[in-house]
Amino acid sequence: MKSEQYKTYLDESELPRAWYNLRADMKEKPAPLLNPETHLPVTAEELEKVFCKECVKQELDDTTREIPIPQGVLDFYKMYRPSPLVRAYFLEKALGTPAKIYYKFEGNNTSGSHKLNSAIAQAYYAKEQGLTDVTTETGAGQWGTALSMASAFYGLKCHVYMVKCSYEQKPFRREVMRTYGGDVTPSPSMTTEVGRRINAEHPGTTGSLGCAISEAVEAASKLPNSRYLLGSVLNQVCLHQSVIGLEAKTAFDKLGVKPDVIIGCAGGGSNLVGLIAPFMGEKLRGEADYRFIAVEPSSCPSLTRGKYAYDYCDTGKVCPLQKMYTLGSSYIPSASHAGGLRYHGMSATLSALYDQKYIEARSITQTEVFEAATLFARVEGTLPAPESAHAIRAAMDEALRCKKEGREETILFGLTGTGYFDMYAYARYNDGEMSDYIPTDEEILKAHERLPKIKV
Ligand SMILES: *Cc1c(COP(=O)(O)O)cnc(C)c1O
Repeated sequence: MKSEQYKTYLDESELPRAWYNLRADMKEKPAPLLNPETHLPVTAEELEKVFCKECVKQELDDTTREIPIPQGVLDFYKMYRPSPLVRAYFLEKALGTPAKIYYKFEGNNTSGSHKLNSAIAQAYYAKEQGLTDVTTETGAGQWGTALSMASAFYGLKCHVYMVKCSYEQKPFRREVMRTYGGDVTPSPSMTTEVGRRINAEHPGTTGSLGCAISEAVEAASKLPNSRYLLGSVLNQVCLHQSVIGLEAKTAFDKLGVKPDVIIGCAGGGSNLVGLIAPFMGEKLRGEADYRFIAVEPSSCPSLTRGKYAYDYCDTGKVCPLQKMYTLGSSYIPSASHAGGLRYHGMSATLSALYDQKYIEARSITQTEVFEAATLFARVEGTLPAPESAHAIRAAMDEALRCKKEGREETILFGLTGTGYFDMYAYARYNDGEMSDYIPTDEEILKAHERLPKIKV
């Protein structure tokens, strides 16, 4: 039986030739982005001042189902894609579950995560537009690394604002970016107006993604021939990440297997939307049914404890307003080790699907995450990123539920990245020094009270 193999690789010729735009199949579309000053829906023209033209087109397009992947992007995808779909036999055995567990591994490239899938597309379009420089933020460092790699390949100068606490905790991430030609500044910095303001308001702050985004947007507006690129949250990013789900679907079809439960970690929501896209499309069109689970950290619980409301995407309030599940843009999450999940809001697409009850969500603590990560590393051999281990934990919990109920379900989860650059976090765990921070209701309420008041 084919499904008994451990890894399923697709041929190069089976790489998707078009991204799948899930929004085209949503009856209720995500709410439009609003101009932060006028509170009117943003126009393409306004967005094009910040983002690349082609990316803006993709951002605003919620009707075209398939968007061709340019040859120049496919050429780079070929260097590390298709990524393998792995049957986690050894994890199943360790758990003694009748469930079948599969994972799609996106950590097999130097940047170490799925973020490269969108970095390549965005850098490609920036170059096509004739830009010379791009700016961005990075939290844990995966996105900054991915964009530095893509910028090097297409010949762009990449300026990265890196959240200060990870700049200090992850010196090797920084050096990988610099090796690929990226120029890295710890954020909040004193090089932008918004950085100076945030430093004055919150002396000694270790930064947040929201601050770093504001700095990168400001930097792009001051450099000639430059735009800002964002690694998560946006519709265009979810679109590019659909390559994960499309490959997974093709691999499952080849194996003659259909997953029952699909699980992903959710920071801004891009890998999860990408992984579930073709499956969710079938569900929305009434062709098949699946359960979908988003997993987030208890320290930054946007879906499970956030509010579905219009909010700023960044601390400096320069980006468009987006309707999403949010903790509030003034919320600065505790210094969690899953830096890639430390964002106050969530993708508009994922938020709408969650609000429409197509997706479940749960939050888990750091200690639970590292327990799962350690077991997974020992039995499956791959060292997972702490972000990815949120999905591992939920997959294990589902597999244990199957054991209790005596059910042979098929579980798919996204293993978004490698943990090689997270050894500081693993060290804390190995030394028994990891703590779990769960925000109080008062803290969340305080940030929610500062949500913008929108009349629509
Ligand atoms: C950034 C990141 C995430 C979270 O981002 P999403 O946009 O929610 O996918 C998850 N895992 C890894 C390894 C990351 O780098």
